[in-house]
Amino acid sequence: MTTAPVNLLDFDLDGLAAFCEGLGEKRFRATQLFRWVHQRGVADFGQMSDLAKSLREKLAGRAHVAALSVISQHESKDGTIKWLFDVGGGNAVESVFIPEYGDAVPPPRGAAAAGGRGLSALDRGTLCISSQAGCAVGCRFCSTGHQGFSRNLTTGEIVAQLWFAEHFLRRHLATDERVISNVVMMGMGEPLQNYDRLVPALRTMLDDHGYGLSRRRVTVSTSGVVPMIDRLAHDCPVALAVSLHAPDDALRDHLVPLNRKYPLDELLRTCTRYLASAPRDFITFEYCMLDGVNDAPEQARDLVDLVRAHAAGGLRCKFNLIPFNPFPASGLVRSPAPRVQAFAQVLNEAGIVTTVRKTRGDDIDAACGQLAGDVQDRTRVHQRMARQRTVMLRVADTADALPGKAVS
Ligand code: SAH
Ligand code: SF4
Repeated sequence: MTTAPVNLLDFDLDGLAAFCEGLGEKRFRATQLFRWVHQRGVADFGQMSDLAKSLREKLAGRAHVAALSVISQHESKDGTIKWLFDVGGGNAVESVFIPEYGDAVPPPRGAAAAGGRGLSALDRGTLCISSQAGCAVGCRFCSTGHQGFSRNLTTGEIVAQLWFAEHFLRRHLATDERVISNVVMMGMGEPLQNYDRLVPALRTMLDDHGYGLSRRRVTVSTSGVVPMIDRLAHDCPVALAVSLHAPDDALRDHLVPLNRKYPLDELLRTCTRYLASAPRDFITFEYCMLDGVNDAPEQARDLVDLVRAHAAGGLRCKFNLIPFNPFPASGLVRSPAPRVQAFAQVLNEAGIVTTVRKTRGDDIDAACGQLAGDVQDRTRVHQRMARQRTVMLRVADTADALPGKAVS
């Protein structure tokens, strides 16, 4: 009986060490292998020149690095890049790379590939990653939520998004330096409803032999899965963003149905506890600005009262207001800019640091809440995937074999 090869992207370093031990190999061999895969982006064991030949032979057939196939890649005029990945069974998930340039002027499209000029100007490279195909929480204003839940991603599928993006971008920008400096779990899905697969993925991101990201630069965003926030504080206390969206339970019950299970007071008490273990000394509250729903100045004042009630217990927070990104089925409208500014002013004047999120990748539907994985029409996606795969096979022999420009 033959067994399916193990996906090495499923393992954090401890997991890989245990796997290697099962092959009769010492931990330092696992570390070497981990570095080849994550730091150098190598999937072919034959290229791992300092690995003992005997280990390479053991790995062949037993293990592989399972990359996700790219269905499409879109690059925005502001430099944002969105990938749609095939995760099988008619499901697709999206990841978005958001570059921030110190001089605020992104290099022209394609310039980076030509001469690597893009990287020197890059202040920060953030990758927004998906944790599930679809989402079961069903927030009213979220396109992923409207599509329903398909399945949890595996650890390997979560990590594969970073693995692909980092090594694609290094080639694209013609550099050996790290390009992605920040990861936010703000793509499709509720990461804390996929906890057991999330944590090894986070550990791989943080590991010095992996991507070496600092805990402050990896953010888990949650709609408020209270018990898992407590577990995360213990297992891997990265930066935490909590999607609040309403100052009271009645409205939040409606917008974020999970609130019926974990209401605001309990959620904020859990956030306060999180800060005891988190290296980052504040929680980021996300608040999607919906015209006439949650954007009145009185609601901003109610938020101030809510936060103050918990500040006494040790809650420190910042607010990030997200202008709603509309999609047809929502029936909701983005708050006008002056209303967002007025809301921010109430919070800022109360001493709560509040920023308004810049919308990025507008021209390629890469903004928050617009990631739908394009699975609403599964028949069409199947056909498109088959078509794209054909196109990708055709470009595979060219110098720049990575999919990107050739597709969609
Ligand atoms: N499930 C997690 C993380 C993914 S959503 C969460 O809910 O936090 C990432 C962020 O995008 C959340 O703050 C979410 O509320 C916000 N968001 C969802 N739909 C949006 C939309 N249509 N416009 C603006 N922000 C949206
Ligand atoms: Fe799920 Fe987050 Fe979208 Fe709510 S906002 S439906 S929790 S992905």
